[in-house]
Amino acid sequence: MKPRPSFPARLDTGAAVPRVAVGKPSLMAGLSPVERPQGLGMDAHRQRMLQLLQKQGVQDTAVLAAMGSVERHRFVDTALVNQAYEDTSLPIGLGQTISKPGVVARMIELLRNGASGKLGRVLEIGTGCGYQAAVLSALAQEVYSIERLRGLHDKARENLRTLRLPNLHLLFGDGMVGYAKGAPYAAIIAAAGGEAVPQAWIDQLAVGGRLVAPVATEGGTAQALLVIDKSATGLRQTRLEAVHFVPLKSGLA
Ligand code: SAH
Repeated sequence: MKPRPSFPARLDTGAAVPRVAVGKPSLMAGLSPVERPQGLGMDAHRQRMLQLLQKQGVQDTAVLAAMGSVERHRFVDTALVNQAYEDTSLPIGLGQTISKPGVVARMIELLRNGASGKLGRVLEIGTGCGYQAAVLSALAQEVYSIERLRGLHDKARENLRTLRLPNLHLLFGDGMVGYAKGAPYAAIIAAAGGEAVPQAWIDQLAVGGRLVAPVATEGGTAQALLVIDKSATGLRQTRLEAVHFVPLKSGLA
């Protein structure tokens, strides 16, 4: 297991930031800085991240609660721990990145589309370090997450081991073909952007399901978020804001 990084003591102020009323209440909330064990600085950082997400317009309290409960700093390299709660993507090795918290929240909020309960089965393409998969596992009955790079699939497995998330299934494979065995999916989310949404994803989406993916805009120079809703009568596509994701690639490596 990766050694748990040590945390800067100067961040253990606790009192300065009003707590967002979501997520697990910290048992240490009432303690003064000297009474707090090392490491709680990260809780304060995560709370601030939630406030930033709210400022950015994230309203779904279930999404905020899930993002408040998953320790993003455990998914990045020790040297990057101090940036773990900034709204930025960070390198996770093999030329890939952990997505910005703001984008993770935005996409999952879109995926949930105001649902009151949990999503059913969810397919994630691009496990990366496993962070978004962990967030999804708190919001769905089952999560299938596929990664095409063996090194990252293994890294995600390692990062997620201690969290023991029985409803999260990590798969090593080419996500371009989806994962037919888990279909149909109530929701499909891609963390890598291609020229178009592969037909397999559409086929594996349940009627009544929603897909959120970055796709190339015309000309291929930029990407935008695409939402696809599948109903009994067909597909409805909605193109949203510009995003920057790593490329969706085929094959394994
Ligand atoms: N959700 C991830 C983001 C990782 S970046 C996280 O929280 O860290 C996107 C990932 O998609 C990369 O790891 C990349 O290797 C992977 N990817 C790209 N094309 C893929 C494909 N066809 N199948 C599966 N994974 C793919």
